[in-house]
Amino acid sequence: MVGSAEAFLKYNKDNVMKHLLAIEAHLRELEEGYRPDHASCVIKHILQLEEQCEEGISHAAELGQDEVAKIFKRVRDEAESIRKALLEGRPPAEIIRIVRAVRRVAEKLDPSFELEKCTTCTVDLGKVKAGHEGSGDLRKMEEEYADKVLSYLSEKYGVRKPKLVLLDKCPGEPADFGLYVKDRKEIVLCRGGVDVHKLAHEFAHYLQDVRKADVDWEEGECEAESFALNVVRGREAGQGHGEVARDVPASVAAAVLVAGVLVNLALLLARK
Ligand SMILES: [Zn+2]
Repeated sequence: MVGSAEAFLKYNKDNVMKHLLAIEAHLRELEEGYRPDHASCVIKHILQLEEQCEEGISHAAELGQDEVAKIFKRVRDEAESIRKALLEGRPPAEIIRIVRAVRRVAEKLDPSFELEKCTTCTVDLGKVKAGHEGSGDLRKMEEEYADKVLSYLSEKYGVRKPKLVLLDKCPGEPADFGLYVKDRKEIVLCRGGVDVHKLAHEFAHYLQDVRKADVDWEEGECEAESFALNVVRGREAGQGHGEVARDVPASVAAAVLVAGVLVNLALLLARK
């Protein structure tokens, strides 16, 4: 029965990886402050993951593959820590990090599982530059840069990546405005004006939206600006308010607010 044990073992390995990927995908949809019943999809996959590990252990033992059996055991034991974190209501971004650590263990089951080596999942800026050299396609570079920043922030804060719209026609020059459109969950920026600061500022409005933060307009602006400055300066983004007051002189903060209002108004008028 060696032939069928081999086939079953392959099936178990594939399923372990599928459940780990599904768990991560579900966690991305989960918002902070979730209730345990919202996490039930993830729990289901964790249970199935454990079941596949149990089967994998016995099929590997049948084939005398002790090392493989050990890996299945480790994955099964570590799956418990994912479940525990979930039941404790840990933030999704934190649990995603645990899932990835478990996935790195599971990747040892099959060389084709080494997903870290996948170059199509992430934008390699070095390659982007080389690829566009001489082609003059700087528009594409700006788009890819924006996408990379948004991917990074979305992953860091455990949320789904917001849509990005780059406008060719802007309400004014220079092209330094940004807008978050709540009902379409879109970040709108102007071509030629994309930078980390603007992306992070609009991303903060997106976070306020998906986390249903109860902030008024002015508070929301202060918080978004503080978030953006912290991102650009490489500090951990603050959760509370009043960060702007500490980091930036009040006059500068006020100027930023006024500029934001004018630009938003201009854009709304332009869209009418
Ligand atoms: Zn804003």
